Amino acid sequence: MISHVRLHTATVPMATAFDHATRSRRRSESVLVELRVGGVRGWGEGAPRGYVTGETLESTAEAVQACDLAALADRIDWRTFDSTVASVAALDLPELVDGPSAAAAVEIALLDAVCRRFDRPLADALRVLGAPARLHRTGPASVSLVIHLSRDVASTLDDLGPRALAKLRHVKIKVADPADAARRLSAARDRLPAGTRVSLDVNGSWSPAEAERVGGELTGVAWVEEPLAPRSWPELARLRQRTGLPVMLDESCTGPADLHTAVDTGAADHINVRLSKCGGLFAAARLAARADELGVGCQLGVHVAEVGPLWAAGRALATEWGLWQTVEAGRGDEWFPDRLTRPAFSVDRVRHRVMPLAGPGIGIEPTEALLRHTRCLATWRPDSGWRRNR
Ligand SMILES: [Mg+2]
Repeated sequence: MISHVRLHTATVPMATAFDHATRSRRRSESVLVELRVGGVRGWGEGAPRGYVTGETLESTAEAVQACDLAALADRIDWRTFDSTVASVAALDLPELVDGPSAAAAVEIALLDAVCRRFDRPLADALRVLGAPARLHRTGPASVSLVIHLSRDVASTLDDLGPRALAKLRHVKIKVADPADAARRLSAARDRLPAGTRVSLDVNGSWSPAEAERVGGELTGVAWVEEPLAPRSWPELARLRQRTGLPVMLDESCTGPADLHTAVDTGAADHINVRLSKCGGLFAAARLAARADELGVGCQLGVHVAEVGPLWAAGRALATEWGLWQTVEAGRGDEWFPDRLTRPAFSVDRVRHRVMPLAGPGIGIEPTEALLRHTRCLATWRPDSGWRRNR
């Protein structure tokens, strides 16, 4: 049933750079998979980030081409929507494909094509996963305001205006210098309603001693995201014990093994679930459901500079499940002045929320403006397998 696949890279220049403690990003770095099921086309995306999963654009493109799509297609029961989606879920693509971003790109393309073929939205595919009913809650999702490292907290919040400020539910502030963290936090706290939560994202840049020293000063912080070098399990547990600081893991947690280690060692209160680092929509959903069972909170995050299928698939999870502590939407409209998708990326920045996308499939398609920045690396057909483009 998989009749034709094309593998692309998408490197789209950003209008403004995005900075955090260890990186500055100036262009997208995505792999796009364009896949046809019975002639119906779907799109998937992976966003390899070396500092999160060790993947590169090149390694991800290689991993997609190493994927035996004929064998994979043989394991799918193509008869009905439910049987197709259930068998895609049973494939456990992060186990089959070498690298979570590659798995995400293949999975989202496959689900998009399957949903379109049966004229169903991606949210319907999530229902096939059989998650507990209490997790389902269709509707708009409240999204965080993320203030990146090069932005002043006070002026960013002052620029919002009173109405948008009053509607904010969560502000996430990127920090690096530990001496600056309390100042950035209190600049936010001074301006926000008491019910608005503030978290700090350190991107692993503090030493355990720095984090313990600063920890006591962070009054009123909802949690600190990735305070120490990734997977410093005993140090993270000690930090939580000694300071009472709630910890969210991001770079440290890309799948169930990390989640279980974090729980066993007492290293986390929350995790950041992002589709590409987790290996796709179903892997992310399963990780979140498992975390919820274990009493660990979840943020649904994004990778900076997702160009289309990733943010759209994430939006299905954001608006279909209600377990999220908070949801990130990204700022695709500001990073990429040209509309990369149809319909275009959009966030209600007064009410700070995103709406469910109407189907079928992931609900968006790439525009010419996006395709101009793509390069087709290889093509797959059932009879000839993968062929590299010259
Ligand atoms: Mg983070």
